[in-house]
Amino acid sequence: MAATGTDRLTPFEEARELILARARRLDAEPVPLREALGRVTAADVRASAPVPGFDNSAMDGFAVRAADLAGAGAAAPVTLVVVDESRAGHPASRPVGAGEAIAISTGAVLPAGADAVVMVEKAERAGDTVKVAGPIAAGTAVRRAGDDVAAGELVLPAGTPVGPAELGVLAELGVEPVPCRRRPRLAVVVSGDELVGPTEPLAPGQIRDANAHTLRALAERAGAEVVAEARVGDDPDATRAALAAALAGADLVVISGGISVGAHDHVKGALAELGVEQVFWRIAFKPGKPTWFGVAEDDGPLVLGLPGNPVSAMVCFTLLAWPAIRAMLGVSAPPRRTVAILDDECEREPNRLHAVRCRLALHPDGWHAHSTGAQASHVLTSMVGAEAVALIPAGDGPLGAGEEVEVELLPYAQG
Ligand code: AMP
Ligand code: MG
Repeated sequence: MAATGTDRLTPFEEARELILARARRLDAEPVPLREALGRVTAADVRASAPVPGFDNSAMDGFAVRAADLAGAGAAAPVTLVVVDESRAGHPASRPVGAGEAIAISTGAVLPAGADAVVMVEKAERAGDTVKVAGPIAAGTAVRRAGDDVAAGELVLPAGTPVGPAELGVLAELGVEPVPCRRRPRLAVVVSGDELVGPTEPLAPGQIRDANAHTLRALAERAGAEVVAEARVGDDPDATRAALAAALAGADLVVISGGISVGAHDHVKGALAELGVEQVFWRIAFKPGKPTWFGVAEDDGPLVLGLPGNPVSAMVCFTLLAWPAIRAMLGVSAPPRRTVAILDDECEREPNRLHAVRCRLALHPDGWHAHSTGAQASHVLTSMVGAEAVALIPAGDGPLGAGEEVEVELLPYAQG
């Protein structure tokens, strides 16, 4: 077991490393192009043919031989005979000879013999002839085969997240189906006697379960598939049964609540009985100090125990479970950070890194981080509109407005 001392809080970066060290890349599976949005490629994608596949016109106009127009000018226009047409999808049936032109559309095959395209605005068509009043450089308005992608070129390396542009490129290259990583299977368990659903009646002391929804949403945004959801009361047997079921079909089990030291916190005990080995418990981080991480026997599923407070659950999932899910998907990009100037005074914690939820704004002197308001871990509205967390190092007293700190972007908040 690593880093399990009862007094020691695991530093945040170390906690993230310990989780990433256990996150294994999942297998590949073929995914139809139409369903590949949001997935991650599992193999290098190379071009089997150049893109564009043939020399073609960048303009509507006339395919010509530049040499024919060498002497053309306003006072001495050159008249060419229009002998054919090349339309998009319908190449011309003959080449361009000396003194000839072929009418051409954007994207149509450049006919043999032609080496430039006179745009329609610079040509005066009259019946079977076209008059051009100026010279043209060879290559004008011609898109060469392979000027986007050369044959054999590595276009999308394995581990590329598939967004709209990647989908388009895959389609251009004729990749169907797309080799993608299997989505991590995630089970979400929320624990607490006080929890009810959004429309159930509220008995005295009960609250509505927020974490089932925030955690499922974060998991799906990260690219995981939520295969099981359960809510369990503060009872040791029920907790063990719920966790046993969750472990059965998951790559990652996330449980909220019941992970602390209260008389009714049963999660750690249940996990121990189920043979889940603790890697760390309690991190030098706010919000989310009681966070627990372990691995089931025989390199089984990862288990992340999150505090029930809804902000702690969201922040710790985002900063700890999200990178693990991305690693399982084969994405190696580290979380995105930058430096920002604090707009507000922020409390420092004596022994813990403090993640202050904030919005970012670009000012002439750089990025500014503006706190989303009260930062207590039950104030879930402080997550609404948050784009980043400002990472306030441990220390004494507040850190003043105007100080520079590192900020980590909340990956689900981008775009
Ligand atoms: P716990 O980690 O179980 O000690 O819970 C800490 C706080 O989070 C308590 O105020 C709980 O009522 C609250 N809480 C626990 N689970 C949830 C949940 N699923 N949704 C909203 N609040 C919760
Ligand atoms: Mg509880």
